[in-house]
Amino acid sequence: MAEKHVLGISGGRDSAALAVYVRQHRPELDVDYFFTDTGKELPEVYEFLGRLEGFLGKPIARLNPRRDFDFWLREYNHFLPSPQTRWCTKQLKLAPFEQWIKPMLAAGDKVTTYVAIRSDEDYREGYSAKHPNLTVSLPFREAGIDKKGVHDILESSGVGLPKYYDWRSRSGCTFCFFQQKIEWVRLKERHPEAFEEAKSYEKNAIEHGSPFTWSKGEPLDELEKPARVIQIVADYDRRRQRELARRPVNPLRPAELQRCEDLDELFGEDEGGGACVVCHK
Ligand code: SF4
Repeated sequence: MAEKHVLGISGGRDSAALAVYVRQHRPELDVDYFFTDTGKELPEVYEFLGRLEGFLGKPIARLNPRRDFDFWLREYNHFLPSPQTRWCTKQLKLAPFEQWIKPMLAAGDKVTTYVAIRSDEDYREGYSAKHPNLTVSLPFREAGIDKKGVHDILESSGVGLPKYYDWRSRSGCTFCFFQQKIEWVRLKERHPEAFEEAKSYEKNAIEHGSPFTWSKGEPLDELEKPARVIQIVADYDRRRQRELARRPVNPLRPAELQRCEDLDELFGEDEGGGACVVCHK
């Protein structure tokens, strides 16, 4: 029987900062880092994982589900995952993690999993432990570390932010249905081949009677039309200007609002709200 410490890296800001934080504040812990790879990740995610591994001085285990996105898509009758039927999180994120820790728990090990819920996220609930030997630890909530604190940790450690934060607000699968419409527009600009792949998945789903499109109520071949793109970009700019006018300028962080990380705040529940702690942290 042993004590194990595991920390899931999503490819996003918060879990990376947590890994840095735990490494700095609890250097005595031998933490096993893991990343549940859906096979549908942005290339920037892999680049960021490499950068983080450099800081941590330890590899991040890639947990590949035994069955990939395409397998589960067929199992779910070609229906795209959606907020109502979120099979992707269940099958591609949670199940591989549970499979991975199963032998540890079976051996009687006590496992602590560290989850990056910040102190300013009262509304979020983390993964609930289903085994008596599994404990969930929330170091950011306990230490009062909020979004600004997370930025400070990443900046001061030299790890920085994942590159996709230049154009996208959070991590997650390349064509996650939680994306805002502006992010779909940017996905098409940055990774046109991935956008085309998303379109073909959507077309196949619709042909199989799926009521879900990737972006709520609007297929991607409508969303990508030039007039619609102009509208989406104008809507984004309008919301952003409104937010800029509302916020006091922080002279120490003049570029804060230039990044896309505030998309959630701009759009709130209108688009993409409700992303989960497992995929997006
Ligand atoms: S990032 Fe989105 S598509 Fe991927 S597993 Fe999470 S909810 Fe599903």
